[in-house]
Amino acid sequence: TKVTKDVVLQRAETLGVKFIKLQFSDVFGTTKNVALPVSQLEKALDGEIMFDGSSIEGFVRIEESDMYLKPDFDTFSLIPWQSENGPVARLICDVYGSNNKPFPGCPRVNLKRIIKEAEAMGFTMNVGPEAEFFLFERDQEGRPTTNTRDHGGYFDLSPIDMGDEVRRSMVVALEGMGFDIEASHHECGEGQHEIDFKYANALATADNIVTFKFVVRKIAMEYGLHATFMPKPVFGKPGSGLHINQSLFKKGKNGKEVNAFYDENGKYKLSQTALSYIAGLLAHARGFCAITNPLVNSYKRLVPGYEAPVYIAWSEKNRSPLVRIPARRGVGTRAELRNPDPACNPYLALAVTLKAGLDGVKRKLDPGAPENVNIYHMTREERLQRGIRSLPTNLSEALDELEADDLIKSALGEHIYDRFMEAKRIEWDDYRTKVHQWELDNYLATY
Ligand code: GLN
Ligand code: MG
Ligand code: MG
Ligand code: MG
Repeated sequence: TKVTKDVVLQRAETLGVKFIKLQFSDVFGTTKNVALPVSQLEKALDGEIMFDGSSIEGFVRIEESDMYLKPDFDTFSLIPWQSENGPVARLICDVYGSNNKPFPGCPRVNLKRIIKEAEAMGFTMNVGPEAEFFLFERDQEGRPTTNTRDHGGYFDLSPIDMGDEVRRSMVVALEGMGFDIEASHHECGEGQHEIDFKYANALATADNIVTFKFVVRKIAMEYGLHATFMPKPVFGKPGSGLHINQSLFKKGKNGKEVNAFYDENGKYKLSQTALSYIAGLLAHARGFCAITNPLVNSYKRLVPGYEAPVYIAWSEKNRSPLVRIPARRGVGTRAELRNPDPACNPYLALAVTLKAGLDGVKRKLDPGAPENVNIYHMTREERLQRGIRSLPTNLSEALDELEADDLIKSALGEHIYDRFMEAKRIEWDDYRTKVHQWELDNYLATY
């Protein structure tokens, strides 16, 4: 059921909404907001709200700065916490240029473009994300620290798990925004948590990830804590991943959607489409890593020893490779891509991974045999012999790989690619020219 303008107006009235937040995402995945009194709702729904695009990172220059917000009516949702001035609702928007055309620099507009390519091939992409994050204490001034009083571990129960209550509040708030929460648990690290929600099509899931991060941060704040999606906040402890479970669906014989990854008679009970899609992910992993793992810090997570992937391989069994095929078959058949981290822009991450997988399908690529032994236990020579490549080891290498992958560049479009590259090269240069504590510890006395 597509929500119409009248339905949104009606719901806003019934709920007594006083303010509307129009949300959109910049190139780096940061959520932007324009807040309006409800008197402006109709105008907003007609897509007539303008903003200055030149003040948004990675958008446009001053000369071409008038941009429009076109809300997606399906994303209308009450913000489920008290606000002094009455109920607030939000709508997620596409950005349009002053020419009234979809703006190619808008990550949401861009993802829709790639989704259309999948549709032209007869496919819908479904995605179920697993977002991990840490809950840290704040200091006297309210600044985030990396301290946690919690000593729980994977799936631990309270009272050891002090984040239990906070997490429950997060789940309640998310459910209040229409999320279908499937699981929430303590992760391996002290203070680390995971909340999983039900899979949906790629666009809805990207919207959900953005909303999820916003809700998690807000609820943590209410408890005086800081929720961080930084990929590797503490050396020697696990990092936070955003595993992306993905599958393609297609119209079956009776017109009903079926999982195109499942084939009862196929090898591993996977279809040729699934195998080629996996092969596409493997083929472009080095190229899309800068998008799925966009920070200098992202590469401190992708190291051996913490259940984060390092090597480019797939498996139906162990958790060391980049792509794992969970045991579920039938409608739940899927590929779990394990390298992305929650600092990524989900609109871009889904656009590049979908494009990579579709490329595999188009070219009928073969992923080779699964690696069901632990790659971390292989020597460097064994890995080389088996042709197992590694993910980029730092942001600079990842940017070089992106620059060399024309297919992944085309999944971003010129505008997003240029702005992303420019900003990330600066970020890397800033990092590499600084003198870090490690260098002082290791060199200062010796040389
Ligand atoms: N935290 C791990 C990562 O960085 C994943 C751990 C898990 O979910 N089993 O990807
Ligand atoms: Mg999980
Ligand atoms: Mg996990
Ligand atoms: Mg997982």
